[in-house]
Amino acid sequence: MPELPEVETSRRGIDPYLCGNTVTETRIRQPMLRWPVSGQIISGLAGQTITHTGRRGKYLLLFTGRGCVIIHLGMSGSVRIVDSSQPAGKHDHADFVMSDGVILRYHDPRRFGCLLWSELPVEQHSLLRSLGPEPLTDDFNGTYLFERSRGRKVPVKSFVMDSHVVVGVGNIYANEALFMAGIRPQTLAGKLSARRYARLVQCIQQVISHAITVGGTTLRDFVGGDGKPGYFQQSLLVYGRAGKPCKTCSSTLIEIRQNQRSSVYCPQCQD
Ligand SMILES: [Zn+2]
Repeated sequence: MPELPEVETSRRGIDPYLCGNTVTETRIRQPMLRWPVSGQIISGLAGQTITHTGRRGKYLLLFTGRGCVIIHLGMSGSVRIVDSSQPAGKHDHADFVMSDGVILRYHDPRRFGCLLWSELPVEQHSLLRSLGPEPLTDDFNGTYLFERSRGRKVPVKSFVMDSHVVVGVGNIYANEALFMAGIRPQTLAGKLSARRYARLVQCIQQVISHAITVGGTTLRDFVGGDGKPGYFQQSLLVYGRAGKPCKTCSSTLIEIRQNQRSSVYCPQCQD
């Protein structure tokens, strides 16, 4: 699944081609995505200039003077920049054609993503308004996580993967950050000290920043905004390494299941 780093990598890839460019045509080939694509996106975008791009959690945002396009890449979607000589493939469900001939092409084989149009302030959109802070902003800090976790009897891994608490901490990033912070994934969120949350925030920020730097890690068929493959195998410390030796202490890494997701940890380094 494209995670926050992949979406941010995509945004950075497409941004230079779109900013200041005017949408001349929006072609929707398949309107049945996670939610039906409304015709409003076609009429709303017509003749509009993209002023800037943005991202909130895993939502990619294209801003114009009239409204904003909200794009989610679902389980395996991507956006890329093409020109009109490249025919659309089976899963290329939408094209945003720009006045200089550049096309932003939306590809989503499993159709779990969405294309929405909002003319209200986008932060008030029902999909975005209850999201927690961005992980790489000052609003996400140890004091915030500590206070938010008091009385919570959920495992800390589930807690930090909750998008109402903080956005963008996917399964791989949660596994890696908890290892780096020396915290077992099953520890109850309400039991951790402020000091340990401060360390966990640092580790989450480090893991996500690194993933953005290398272009995202999780999806094998991810295509970067400029058409370059966006899949980079990060050197993972615990994720996918169950049964192998810990890179710090050589103990055998243990795998458990939490919310149907794999959690791998070191019994020596994490408590
Ligand atoms: Zn270890």
